[in-house]
Amino acid sequence: MEHVAIVGAGQAGAALAICLRKNGYDGQITIYGNENDPPYQRPPLSKKYLSGEWDRERLWLRPLEFWQEQGIWLRLGRAVQKLSPADRSLVWGDETYSWTKLALTTGARPRPLPEEFQNRTNVFELRNLADVDKLRATFSPGARLLIVGGGYIGLETAAVAAQVGLRVDVIERAPRVLERVACVETADAICELHKQNGVAIHEGRSVVGTEGSEALRAVTLDNGVRLECDLVVVGVGVLPDTRLAGAAGMCCDTGIVVDQFGRTSAPDIWAAGDCTRLPLLGASVTLESVQNAIDQAETVAYDMLGTAQPYEPVPWFWSDQYNTKLQIVGLSRGYDRVVSRASEKGHSNWYFRNNRLIAVDALNDGRAYMLGKKLLEAGKEINPDLISRPDFDPMALLRA
Ligand code: NAP
Repeated sequence: MEHVAIVGAGQAGAALAICLRKNGYDGQITIYGNENDPPYQRPPLSKKYLSGEWDRERLWLRPLEFWQEQGIWLRLGRAVQKLSPADRSLVWGDETYSWTKLALTTGARPRPLPEEFQNRTNVFELRNLADVDKLRATFSPGARLLIVGGGYIGLETAAVAAQVGLRVDVIERAPRVLERVACVETADAICELHKQNGVAIHEGRSVVGTEGSEALRAVTLDNGVRLECDLVVVGVGVLPDTRLAGAAGMCCDTGIVVDQFGRTSAPDIWAAGDCTRLPLLGASVTLESVQNAIDQAETVAYDMLGTAQPYEPVPWFWSDQYNTKLQIVGLSRGYDRVVSRASEKGHSNWYFRNNRLIAVDALNDGRAYMLGKKLLEAGKEINPDLISRPDFDPMALLRA
């Protein structure tokens, strides 16, 4: 009997299994995951789950019965240890299982903790449910929280913590927060938001000294500033999890290398989501987003069924911090110009390369986000000089 094995029980693995069943696949499907929970959504971990607004089951992508009803086996709580492409088998716990087609949806894992933060009782990472459960237990008003890394994890955690009443410092070693993904205008707006909420952001700073033994009690920055702390959250980025693929001899390059159908270098093995390096707009990229996890996984499902179209996404992302929703569409890497546009409730920053629109960041401006998305999807030319003019109507451009 045909058997699709899916290694990785995150958003991509779940989307793949659901898409296969929805489109008539009637062979066996098994999802292998090393955590105990059924597939769950990660974005709320650093937002509504951390703040206590959502309970655990609300994170689950589907209730447990769904997987049973759909005949999708969940083998959870242990990692797949080995993959053998040649004899189409995998080892999970003490058991060996065979498969006819396999997908790797192994996601990404946090970069190793910087040395000075290793083996401390009050240092936390934030990647999965168990991490947040541990961290949440320490979140008490008045506690001094030190956050290392001014990326999405660091900033979203800072926002929740400040709202709960913790005193928060964020250290970012790059010249500004969100440097990898956003322009100065967006980063400044986000920093300002944090300042208004009492969070101190130390940009372009590194830790040069630490105090405390089992627990970290204070750090010294390279400008001499000393920051005391009761707890520490480290969010210094992720690395695609290529361990199984690499050990099985598959082509990897900071990500499992796939083509536009999610096919890997091994026959009948696909990959999708954060673990992949995929071709996009003439480059080879990793995309750490829910949109990519779902859409790439669906491409893989269709390819397994023999009906896929090449995957050519316009990527999108979002981040909620305080009362601000940051929505991003497109990939801003390599931009040479940013034009800002104000709206009634918010504003947006439009990125261009060689006068071509490549991305839009919208801050509390859902309309700008939607317009940017439609323009990018339609591949419409747009004159950057028009963007900031109040009488400019991008809708008219779309209709034209
Ligand atoms: P991230 O977005 O890559 O940000 C990590 C930041 O920490 C980078 O700016 C990095 O600078 C900095 N950094 C690295 N080492 C440092 C050090 N020793 N001291 C101070 N700063 C340091 O990663 P993340 O925030 O950890 O998030 C993890 C993943 O989850 C990412 O893929 C992210 O996109 C995803 N995520 C997304 C959302 C969302 O979309 N809303 C929310 C949460 C998480 P360098 O670039 O110089 O290394």
